[in-house]
Amino acid sequence: MAKFRCPVCGKELNIQLKTEKEPVGGLHEAVVQHEDHLVKIYVDADGFVRRAFPVEHFVRVDPPLYTVHIYEDRAEIIDRNGHTYITDPAPLIDAVKKITS
Ligand SMILES: [Zn+2]
Repeated sequence: MAKFRCPVCGKELNIQLKTEKEPVGGLHEAVVQHEDHLVKIYVDADGFVRRAFPVEHFVRVDPPLYTVHIYEDRAEIIDRNGHTYITDPAPLIDAVKKITS
């Protein structure tokens, strides 16, 4: 379990990284999605996060029509032009449960 402070929003995060392989150059690289932002981290062989950077640009080539992020208190629907719509997560959670059960 690696613990680090998100460099974008300052919250403390825990991540679980599968580190069975030897890291290239001594550090594992990972991109972490936290809420609406992305962070790049470097984790050493002992599971400690050595560096954490905000990811400034995230480019999706051939983006989906809509991207949906569901959080505990809200859901965000992002269209392919980058417009974000905030909505009630409850009906979306129900829909996902129907798909996955
Ligand atoms: Zn964050």
